[in-house]
Amino acid sequence: MHENMKQEWASFDSGIDVSTAVELRIMETTDLHVHLYPYDYYADCPNPDLGLSRLAELIDIARQQVPNCLLFDNGDFLQGTPVGDFFAYDRGLREGDLHPVMAAMNTLRYDAITLGNHEFNYGLGFLEKSLMQAEFPVVSANILRQSAARIRDDQHFTTPYKLLRRKVTDRAGRAHDICIGVIGVAPPQITTWERQALLGQIQTRDMVDSVRAWVPEMREAGADIVVLLAHSGIGAIRHTENMENAVIPLAAIEGVDVVLSGHSHQVFPSRTFADIPGVDIARGTVCGKPTVMSGFFGSHLGLIDLSLIRSGGRWEMLDSAVSTRALRDAAQTLIPPAPQQRKVPLDSPKVRRIVASAHEAVLESIRQPIGRSTTAINSFFVYLGKSAATGLVAEAQRSFIVQKLAGSAHADLPVLSSVAPPKAGGLAGPRNFTNIASGVLTLRSLADLYVYPNRIAALRLTGRDILLWLERAASAYNRIMPGMGEQNLMDFRFAGYNFEVLYGLDYRIDLTAPARFEPDGTEISPDHARIRSVRWQGEPLDPDAEFIVCTNSFRAHGAGGFAGACPDAIVFEDAAITRDVLRDYVATQEAVSVCADMPFSFLPVPGASAVLRTGLAAHDHLDVIAKHQPELLGVDPKGFLRVKIAL
Ligand code: MN
Ligand code: MG
Repeated sequence: MHENMKQEWASFDSGIDVSTAVELRIMETTDLHVHLYPYDYYADCPNPDLGLSRLAELIDIARQQVPNCLLFDNGDFLQGTPVGDFFAYDRGLREGDLHPVMAAMNTLRYDAITLGNHEFNYGLGFLEKSLMQAEFPVVSANILRQSAARIRDDQHFTTPYKLLRRKVTDRAGRAHDICIGVIGVAPPQITTWERQALLGQIQTRDMVDSVRAWVPEMREAGADIVVLLAHSGIGAIRHTENMENAVIPLAAIEGVDVVLSGHSHQVFPSRTFADIPGVDIARGTVCGKPTVMSGFFGSHLGLIDLSLIRSGGRWEMLDSAVSTRALRDAAQTLIPPAPQQRKVPLDSPKVRRIVASAHEAVLESIRQPIGRSTTAINSFFVYLGKSAATGLVAEAQRSFIVQKLAGSAHADLPVLSSVAPPKAGGLAGPRNFTNIASGVLTLRSLADLYVYPNRIAALRLTGRDILLWLERAASAYNRIMPGMGEQNLMDFRFAGYNFEVLYGLDYRIDLTAPARFEPDGTEISPDHARIRSVRWQGEPLDPDAEFIVCTNSFRAHGAGGFAGACPDAIVFEDAAITRDVLRDYVATQEAVSVCADMPFSFLPVPGASAVLRTGLAAHDHLDVIAKHQPELLGVDPKGFLRVKIAL
């Protein structure tokens, strides 16, 4: 099985009886993030393009099409909507309770799952309780309770792999036994990202090292094929220690036959991955191994169809086909050979039943008023320096940290507040913007304002660190050339949650200068500088001066590679969730009134214009960016509103 495909094709040509071939379909869901209902809880309206209850219908259809099927989930299922928060914080899981995600997975008869990084957001106790009632194996080879000198002696959090012994039927209707080995991995950065929630109870290892160590044992124990559930995206070609998106080197490992990918919330095969050496988007392979990544929030079902044949006491892969089916266009993509192309019903009654009571309870709780705002709060123009969304978070963080540090050794330092927009379009699409009308604020508004269950934290940084911090964020922009029209403003590879803005300062961004950092945080050149005229209280920033910077635990522990962020620089961190800090702040104000002005603006770029991609509803707020003379250019294929702006 693990010899290269060409040899197997050769044996196919040399007279194997194809009627004994077994069609095995491997299905993937990934990065569900508690999207069970086709519902956008932040907008409080249905969204038919996502949700496991709708995907369940695609799963049923896919199962009816072939005799042999396996269904896997690739992780990040436990956190991401208010339903997830509701079970983690409000209702809790009592002894014997079934988490609705687990209940839905049991109902849909998943064969195995692996864990993603977000499974650890709510701490280990909650995760353990949630997993307790899974009626399928949970595998993870690089998430450990205790690492050992030798990888094979590690103590795992779950089992590293599982052998699934199945009966399969061939084309002629004969039954065969097959053993499918399933192994899982997730980014080792979990221990950094979730440090506070895990308190050292978990260790991790490099994904590639872990898979390399365990696959031979799986083979020896009888695995006919090995399926790798990699909660990891398709990134660099070369393996580097502890890399986050490692699917290419993982797929290259001898003995791995099939790869399920995820974590980066993309779709594979797709044009996004064209022209990468070793990646074939027509065949859906990475290093020759069939590979799939099925979007996020239940947007797609991933399918890998294998033709296997028993030959010389072993199973060999004759052929593979990889595809994804999107809920968005389910009617078209449904199964061309099927005579009855049918629209997918709104959702699956069996999954709907499981989530119905939680869904209702969550709707009720997110609609409770908790305060008022006199202004609209949105993130449509966060990249133009106009957003009340980041301003409100900055103020709530600042006031909380000032209270916490009062009387401490750090109390006399100036306090800055760093905020990145959790919702700023990007890969998550044109609906991924905060959009709150003035008037009553509800929990839903706050969930819309702050998506992640981050904890609040504060760092002690120098002016020198802060300059680099700003440069890292300003690398979100493309380099803009003077005298040129309609240049794309943003580098689409840059994640919005790394666009940190430092409230308490005042600074300019020179868009004509080259970026100092790559989107992943790698420094391109120390000579590149976009940040100009940084002032604190009207004075130029002193590189040696010290500041308190309010941020979150994710950032404070080094995520995104921001200068100075490390455990030694942390002066405050506890269990307080940023969203709870926000709720308390809003609840204690008569009414919040947040100015859209952010602490930065652009240096003029003579004769240049740029194109901003934003949400459709930005249309109603263009007055906020009047100084950029906004002109609507229409809607792009992804559904973003394109706005031409003068610079
Ligand atoms: Mn995810
Ligand atoms: Mg992830």
